[in-house]
Amino acid sequence: MKKNETSAGRLKSIDQTLKGITRNKKAPKGLYVLLLAMHFAASFIVRVWSASSDTVTIAGQTVGVYSFSGVLTALANMCVIVMVVYFGKLGFYTALTILMIQFPLVLSNILIRHNFRPLPGLFNNLFTIFVIVIIYVNHCKVDKFQERLRDQAATDTLTGLPNRFACTELINSLVDRKTEFAVVSVDLNNFKSINDTMGHNTGNEILKEIAERWKKVANERLSGTYDFVARLGGDEYAIILRSYVSDDDLLRAIRYYQSVLEEKMIVDGCDLYISGSFGYAVYPRDADNGQTLTSYADTAMYKAKRSKSSHIVRFTNDMLEIEHTLEIEGKIRAALKDNTIYYNLQPQFDISHGLRGFEALARMKDTDGKIISPGEFIPVAENAGLIDKVDAAVFRGAAKFFGELIRKTGVDITLSVNVSVRHLMKNDFLDELKEIINTCGIPAGQLEIEITESIMIDSAEKALQCIKEIRGMGIKIAIDDFGTGYSSLSYLNNFPADLLKVDKSFIDRMNISDTSKQYVEAIISIGHIMNFDVISEGVEEEEQLETLRSIGCDYIQGFIWGRPLSPEDAEKLVMASVSA
Ligand code: C2E
Ligand code: MG
Ligand code: MG
Repeated sequence: MKKNETSAGRLKSIDQTLKGITRNKKAPKGLYVLLLAMHFAASFIVRVWSASSDTVTIAGQTVGVYSFSGVLTALANMCVIVMVVYFGKLGFYTALTILMIQFPLVLSNILIRHNFRPLPGLFNNLFTIFVIVIIYVNHCKVDKFQERLRDQAATDTLTGLPNRFACTELINSLVDRKTEFAVVSVDLNNFKSINDTMGHNTGNEILKEIAERWKKVANERLSGTYDFVARLGGDEYAIILRSYVSDDDLLRAIRYYQSVLEEKMIVDGCDLYISGSFGYAVYPRDADNGQTLTSYADTAMYKAKRSKSSHIVRFTNDMLEIEHTLEIEGKIRAALKDNTIYYNLQPQFDISHGLRGFEALARMKDTDGKIISPGEFIPVAENAGLIDKVDAAVFRGAAKFFGELIRKTGVDITLSVNVSVRHLMKNDFLDELKEIINTCGIPAGQLEIEITESIMIDSAEKALQCIKEIRGMGIKIAIDDFGTGYSSLSYLNNFPADLLKVDKSFIDRMNISDTSKQYVEAIISIGHIMNFDVISEGVEEEEQLETLRSIGCDYIQGFIWGRPLSPEDAEKLVMASVSA
C-alpha cells in the first residue's frame, strides 16, 4: 500500500485528473511491439523470397516460394493498419515512417539498377499510406467527438466541476491502485431555504461561487493535500483528498475547505454566509471498496448534519447501527402511513393437538418485498415511541378478522395479541381496548393479551392496576417469554395472569441437558402452583414434544404443529378443526 502519493507528476489539477479519468483506455504496449515485429519479419521474408528461386511441392505441384510473398506483404500491411487503429497518433507516425523509408530503397532499385520487380511493392506501399491516412483522419475526428462527449458526461454543467460519474470513476481507479485517500461528503446547510427565499438563480450563483472557491483550493493545493472536487448534484459536493501525512493533516485540509466555504459571499448585492456538513471516510481503513466508502462518508455527513456541535464528522462503525435504526424507523413510519403493517397468525394447540387459538404476529415488508423481522423492527418501534401504533395496527386487523371468523364458525378459540409494556402503560390503553372489542365483536373471554415479564420489574404498581382492569373485563393475560427476564417469584405470586409462555430458548436446550429439562419442569410446576396454564413456545422437534408431554405442559406453540399463517390459511385451519 502506498500511503502517500507525493510525486507531483502523478497528482494533478482537477482538470488533468478529469482528463485522466475519461481518457480512452490505450491498447497494451505489448501489442505495439508485436505488430512492429510481425511487420518487419514479414517484410524481411518477402525480400528474401522475392530474390529466391527455391520451390516447394504442394499436392504434387511445384510452386516457387516467391509466390507466397503476396500473402506476407498483405500481413505486413495489415500490421501497420492495425497499429493505426489501436495506437492513434503513435501508430500512425510509426506506420508512416516504416512505409516511407522503404521508398528510397525501391526507387534506387528501379532508377539505378533498372530492376522493375519491386514496382508492385511500391504501389502497394502507396496504397497502404493512402489507407492509413484515411483511417487516421477519421480516427482523429471520432476521437475529438468522443472526447467532447466524455467531457460532457463527466462535467457538471452548472459549475463546471467534475460530476458524480467522474467522482466515482476516480474513486474506483484509486481503489484499483490501492492508494490511501479520503472521501469527504459535503452537504450545504439550509440551502433549501436559501433557494426558497432568494430564488433559484441566487441558489445557482452560490453553487457556482462555492465551486470556484474549492476549485482554486484544489488546483493551487492550498489545503496542503492533493485534492479533487466534484459536485454530485443539488447542494451536495464530494472532495477526494490524497497525500496527507497524518489524520491531523487530513482534518486540517478538510477544515480549510470548510473555512473557505464559510467566508462571506456577496451574491446579488447581498452578504451571505454559507456553511456545510462534512462527513468523511478513509480508504482502506473504513472500507475496501469505493461504493461502501462513499456511503460511509454520507453516513458521517448525515451525522454532522444532525449534530449541533460539529460540522465535520469522521465515519465510525457505530454509526452504521444508528443509521440502520433510523432507516428501520423511517420504514415503520412509512408502513404506518401507508397502512402496510400486517399480521400472521401462529396456531397454538393443546397437548393432544386440539386447536387452542392463534397468536397475532406483526409483519412488515421492505421496499424490495423482503420481510423485516419483528425481532428487528419491534424494538426500534418501541424506542421511537411508535409501538402503540404498530400494536394497534396488528390488534385491529387481527381482531376484525377474528370477530368475523367467530361469527361465521362459532368456534371457541383464543386470539392472543402482543402488547408492548410502553403501549400498555399509556393512559388511554383501556379505552382503546374497549373500542376494539366493541367494534370487532370479539367476546372478551376469547381474547388474550401477551405482555413480557419485564412489566413486573419496570412498572409494577401501575401495570398491576391496568392488568387487573383488563382481567376484570374478562380478557386473559399471558406472560410472554417467561424465564428470560429477571422477575422474582414474589412478583409472579401476585401477578394476575392466566397463561405462562415458556421461552423458546429453554425449549431449545431442554433435550441437551438434564438440568435444562428440570428447569422447564420447574417452570411448569410453578405455573401450575400459581394457577396458570403453561404453553411452550418454539417447539420444533418430536423429542421436545414428548418431553413436554411427560412433564405436564398444557399447550404447544411451534413450527412442529404450525408456523405463522396468513389469515386465509388460518381460516382454513379453523374450518378443518371444526369439521374434524
Ligand atoms: P413472541 O411474542 O415470543 O412470538 C413468538 C415468536 O417465536 C414469533 O417470532 C414466532 O414466529 C416464533 N416462533 C414460534 N414458534 C417457533 C418455532 O418453532 N421455531 C422458531 N424458530 N420460531 C418460532 P416473530 O414473529 O419473529 O416475533 C418475534 C417477536 O416480536 C415476538 O415474540 C414478539 O415479542 C414481537 N412481536 C411480534 N408481533 C408483535 C406485535 O404486534 N406487537 C408487539 N409489541 N410485539 C410483537
Ligand atoms: Mg408473543
Ligand atoms: Mg414469546
